[in-house]
Amino acid sequence: MKKILLSVFLFSFFITAAQDTYLYCGKLFDSEKGKILSEKTIIVKSNKVISVENGFVDPKSEKDKIIDLKNKTVLPGLIDMHVHIESETNPKRYMARFTNNEADIAFESVVYAERTLMAGFTTVRDLGGTGVNIALRKAIGKGFVKGPRIYTAGKSIATTGGHADPSNGMKKDWMGDPGPKEGVVNSPEEGRKAVRQRYKNGADVIKITATGGVLSVAKSGRNPQFTVEEIKAITETAKDYGMLVAAHAHGDEGMQRAIIGGVKTIEHGTFMSDETMELMKKYNAYLVPTITAGKEVAEKAEVEGYYPEIVVPKAKEVGPQIQGTFARAYKKGVPIVFGTDAGVFPHGLNAKEFYYMAEAGMPVIEAVKCATVIPAMLLGEEKTLGKIQQGYYADIIAVNENPVENVKTLENVVFVMKDGIVYKNEL
Ligand SMILES: [Zn+2]
Repeated sequence: MKKILLSVFLFSFFITAAQDTYLYCGKLFDSEKGKILSEKTIIVKSNKVISVENGFVDPKSEKDKIIDLKNKTVLPGLIDMHVHIESETNPKRYMARFTNNEADIAFESVVYAERTLMAGFTTVRDLGGTGVNIALRKAIGKGFVKGPRIYTAGKSIATTGGHADPSNGMKKDWMGDPGPKEGVVNSPEEGRKAVRQRYKNGADVIKITATGGVLSVAKSGRNPQFTVEEIKAITETAKDYGMLVAAHAHGDEGMQRAIIGGVKTIEHGTFMSDETMELMKKYNAYLVPTITAGKEVAEKAEVEGYYPEIVVPKAKEVGPQIQGTFARAYKKGVPIVFGTDAGVFPHGLNAKEFYYMAEAGMPVIEAVKCATVIPAMLLGEEKTLGKIQQGYYADIIAVNENPVENVKTLENVVFVMKDGIVYKNEL
């Protein structure tokens, strides 16, 4: 018996001893200090970083694996705080809701999730879909599907005729009267019910559409669509369940109501006034810039027939404005966190946002912090995500050049490890 136990012990020791990975990093981005360090070794055991050593350290065991990233820049896996992982831009997109079943959406979302991961985004916050996003998160968590860690809002919450009312633009027979379950509310009471329904469904975060939006079949892209009382009911209820609230907002009035109502992140923020920027600072609310989406809708609005007619003027008005608003907000010291609205443009191109942020005046180091340590904190994962340090998840990526010298190198991620597993290795 003793002999068996001893051999079991030795066998399991042998297995664990064989699992360490040594990553030799020529350059390593320290997301906490905002510095690029030279010649470091990251040691990974199972799905965690167990230490970061100076120089290139020899493995302790012959079974350990070495990954040579000596001529690369290594960074923590990137985090995008605004994606729609279930869908992607397409001129036929407006028909899809009449033709796609949940299973169709699910199969498509698998492709988008994998593309996102391969682009170096190891975590995303999904801000609204049909509810398939929750199933996708589970499938990725179980290892059935390749994709980023997902924090999802499930289905967004709107008011009747609002940006995320799922029956917008339909003929009357099909419109029905969607309620809190479907994500349409018209009172504080219904707002509370919609939040609790999302908790029940398995959402991680709450998304509301505080103003009109570009791509919905409705006239205004900026009118306020919730009362402060409705927003307060939603944020207070969400707090009971440990969830933050994100608000889509282009118009200034709707933004102010959202901030006063307790929303934590303002998505897009297109027509944000100086006064609202001060309000953002006072309430410590974060702007999620989504510049890439702005550029995309402005470009596609020029393509005949790409969007429905009612969408085109909104896309032309909103799109070109977003980068300028970001530049002003950054200068004024508004808290900012990285988010792109991927899905409005093809998934996997998320890193284009870094170039636009840098172009608008934010140093690259800060832009990368906006996509690592800052979102990790907002996700409540500041002790597990966004840094390469002892005890953190082994979410590690590499690019060919130093992003400070060439920000576009972030659009060409050559190595991706998530949870200690290598998904991409084009060294
Ligand atoms: Zn969005």
